[in-house]
Amino acid sequence: MPVVVSNDADAEALGEHAVSFPTSTALCLVKVSTGIGVGLVIDGRIYHGVDGGSGDIGHIRVADPRAQETLCQCGAHGCLATIASGRAVARDLRALGIAAESGRDVERLLQQGDPRAAALTQQAGRALGEVLASVVCLFNPGVMVIGGALSSGPLIAGIRESLYRLSLPRATRHLTMELGTIDDGAALIGLVQQVVDQEFAPGRINEPLG
Ligand SMILES: [Zn+2]
Repeated sequence: MPVVVSNDADAEALGEHAVSFPTSTALCLVKVSTGIGVGLVIDGRIYHGVDGGSGDIGHIRVADPRAQETLCQCGAHGCLATIASGRAVARDLRALGIAAESGRDVERLLQQGDPRAAALTQQAGRALGEVLASVVCLFNPGVMVIGGALSSGPLIAGIRESLYRLSLPRATRHLTMELGTIDDGAALIGLVQQVVDQEFAPGRINEPLG
């Protein structure tokens, strides 16, 4: 049985591309759940990097003093994920006496319209936007989809605040930024797409024909 393995952000990026942006030649999906990841789809194909490590932006080091003080899951200090992930927002909510452990808990509070969750998520978005300004500068995407548990109005508002301020107009002039619409389904669609691409590739079709 052929097996396809893909990380969540990559699969979601391909799913969003297949369903909502099939003509995009440079799409970037930013997944903000308990952690942070980016999936890149270039000319309809996932860009994996040489070891599958592309898009792991949660561990890019940032200058924010709060990040410098906080130990990341990866063992380092200063990672973006320590101030902008679902785990980080949940921690900041707990400091206010609100029960939250994960990105899903933050998602639930956002859906309930909790103003503290919204403010902290927007703050996370601003920190994320600073790093995404570099992503946009390097990759010049036409579409940036914001997905994951924290995908929300406050998050995208925070991202816009810092991303546009720190980017050259040339890199953002044709950038469409949207919240993901198919959420968890996007990863499933992306995985199916990969199986279809693999099994119906010209070489694979020709194999049984000799
Ligand atoms: Zn880290």
